[in-house]
Amino acid sequence: MTAQLIDGAALAKRLRGEAAQAAATMRALRGVRPGLAVVLVGEDPASAIYVRNKVRACEEAGLHSVLERYHATLTQPELLARIAALNADPSIHGILVQMPLPRHLDPTAVIEAIAPAKDVDGFSIASAGQLMTGLPGLRPATPLGCMKLIESTGVPIRGQHAVVVGRSNTVGKPMALLLLQASATVTVCHSATPDLASHTRQADIVVVAVGRRGTLTADMVKPGAIVIDVGINRRDDGKLCGDVEFDAVRNVAGWITPVPGGVGPMTIAMLLMNTLQAAELTHPRSAFGAPPQGGAAG
Ligand code: NAP
Repeated sequence: MTAQLIDGAALAKRLRGEAAQAAATMRALRGVRPGLAVVLVGEDPASAIYVRNKVRACEEAGLHSVLERYHATLTQPELLARIAALNADPSIHGILVQMPLPRHLDPTAVIEAIAPAKDVDGFSIASAGQLMTGLPGLRPATPLGCMKLIESTGVPIRGQHAVVVGRSNTVGKPMALLLLQASATVTVCHSATPDLASHTRQADIVVVAVGRRGTLTADMVKPGAIVIDVGINRRDDGKLCGDVEFDAVRNVAGWITPVPGGVGPMTIAMLLMNTLQAAELTHPRSAFGAPPQGGAAG
């Protein structure tokens, strides 16, 4: 069997187009331009690339975007003051502070300082609680993108056995909760899981978010399974690769995401969707009455 490729780049492009359409409609009918502020502290080169891509994606979709770059010497009170200002800025609907922060800054305090309605990364305790309890709210972009990739196969998630490898607060745990909410039977594995293969071999859906190449090999995969590779690693030749041994696993799986071109582009697309959702929460449709005659409902 050769797995069907789940083309995250193509799906993300389509979703970014939909985001652009929705943003244009919101602006035309309600005078609201969804806005995202991205805050980068320090000079980490990878973070600089990530934030540039996020801001560029916003601009392409017609969203208002602000990039605030600060030297690594920025103090915690100074950063909290900037977040307070962005919380109060009506042109900003989503705030994202790029992680990791320099070591003298407390990431938990910084995330908690973001107004819950503007927490487009979905990392705050309030957002995590909403996900945990099934209340509406902003969900972390990467796991949300993984759900869209799984849904794009057309295989119903309900009743499937899903195995998530990794339990970080930003990927593994929210991923498991989203799959649970979609009525999968979920197993979560981590570094203390003995015999990882005995779990993954039973999975109809495997999501691997570890950060170590070669974590999932062909003998660990059930024939026909959906394999989602979140990991970002470098091969010896410097090229990007995921956590999954792609060339071998694609001969066993039914569907598989590549790296690059799988989960990565979806994370940015879902960030745009979250910014739109945040703008929608701040400016609900009902507050503006009925759209003009002949206009689309948006
Ligand atoms: P993380 O915080 O380091 O978490 C890694 C998880 O993997 C931990 O839960 C760890 O278990 C588990 N783990 C480590 N070794 C393992 C093993 N041998 N067997 C099973 N589980 C093991 O990383 P993360 O932030 O979740 O990110 C994971 C990967 O996804 C990284 O490569 C990251 O760059 C990538 N990522 C990609 C995107 C994207 O947009 N494509 C977004 C976010 C992250 P313990 O909890 O027991 O330590």
